[in-house]
Amino acid sequence: MHFSDLKLIAPLQQALQETGYIQPTPIQRQAIPILLEGHDLLGIAQTGTGKTAAFSLPMLQYLDQKRTQRTPKAPRALILTPTRELAIQIHKSLLEYGKHLKQKYAVIFGGVGQGNQVRDLSQGVDVLVATPGRLLDLIEQRHLRLDKVEIFVLDEADRMLDMGFMRDIRKILPLLPQKRHNLFFSATMPHEIQKLAHSILVNPKKVEVTPPSTTVERIKQSLMFVEKKDKLDLLTHLLQNNLLYKVLIFVEMKHVANKVAEKLEKNKISAAAIHGNKSQGARQKAIEDFSKDKVRVLVATDIASRGIDIDGITHVINFELPNVPETYVHRIGRTARAGTEGEAISFCCAEEKFYLMAIEKETRQKVPVNRDHPYHSEDVVKAAVFSPHKAKEKARADFKRQSRGRRPGGRKGGPRRPRH
Ligand code: AMP
Repeated sequence: MHFSDLKLIAPLQQALQETGYIQPTPIQRQAIPILLEGHDLLGIAQTGTGKTAAFSLPMLQYLDQKRTQRTPKAPRALILTPTRELAIQIHKSLLEYGKHLKQKYAVIFGGVGQGNQVRDLSQGVDVLVATPGRLLDLIEQRHLRLDKVEIFVLDEADRMLDMGFMRDIRKILPLLPQKRHNLFFSATMPHEIQKLAHSILVNPKKVEVTPPSTTVERIKQSLMFVEKKDKLDLLTHLLQNNLLYKVLIFVEMKHVANKVAEKLEKNKISAAAIHGNKSQGARQKAIEDFSKDKVRVLVATDIASRGIDIDGITHVINFELPNVPETYVHRIGRTARAGTEGEAISFCCAEEKFYLMAIEKETRQKVPVNRDHPYHSEDVVKAAVFSPHKAKEKARADFKRQSRGRRPGGRKGGPRRPRH
């Protein structure tokens, strides 16, 4: 199937051609006809499936054909999304897909001054991309109204829930006109999200694409057992191989992100780090440098990486395993996007074997072990699996055993009791 089979207007077809898309992805194939007919849509799909174009193209077509007048401060379409990064990406996609149309697009998000955003809104926009907090702020200050919204898109609903935006969403919904076209996207459908979808959508058509396991199948996964202290050396060793061309590295803690990036830079491997303590500007720059291949490695925490849309990532490395198994699936899905292949390498030290077990249970597959590297540790392979709680108890017991029989209080008498 080609885009030309999808009854999209010429300016959109042309933009798609210029963007280099040849075939619609499965979600685009299924959702675009439904949306062009004006149905509400429940889309179960992750980022990486092409869902932005799936909702943007019919939206742009509708707005172009309807030609309602733009009103200052009152957008005709609203796309609500959980993170700034995702908001910026969607706005960029709109500019790209809509470049031959005369509509205006704006994006608003928190963490930056509101001056430019207020100015954009006052000039009138057709489509507004927004994160919930800043949206409500600007509504309260009367810089924005939602009473002219004809199309409402709620994107990444499950992440909205994770990030604590449910209350904001419940405040936003009554501000929209009763009669409107609704699109609702979520990667997963926990109970609370089903309830929310039900309260927003009217007779929706449902489209479900690529459940995580299918994405996971396209990714070559491997596991490396390594002592915690050797992880940085192992990473540097792996990056000597130029086949690891565009590499996204995940860590659990912000300070580890910095440490990893610094070590790589010291070894002349260009790297940038993003995490919650970095300014919005610094994060944006790092993401852009990585997208444009100015840096080879991006080190990220999960929160900071949410919704980043970067093509061509050849490898995802889990420098530390996530303690939520679904996060593993989200992380490795950053490679192998839009039909390409990718590789995911995970480091696992003794303390992380518990998380490994949970991940293997969730994905219902064993991650193949790669022993073919200089830092392979049989001790880690043989190490017992402890839950994080048990691991703490074990550390305490080991400590007591070590200190037994030593001189009380004497500094030479053994390790000091850790202070908390
Ligand atoms: P999304 O799920 O919307 O974040 O899209 C994932 C990535 O796939 C983005 O980088 C898009 O530019 C790309 N993409 C979307 N649709 C297509 C398509 N039909 N052909 C090729 N790439 C696409």
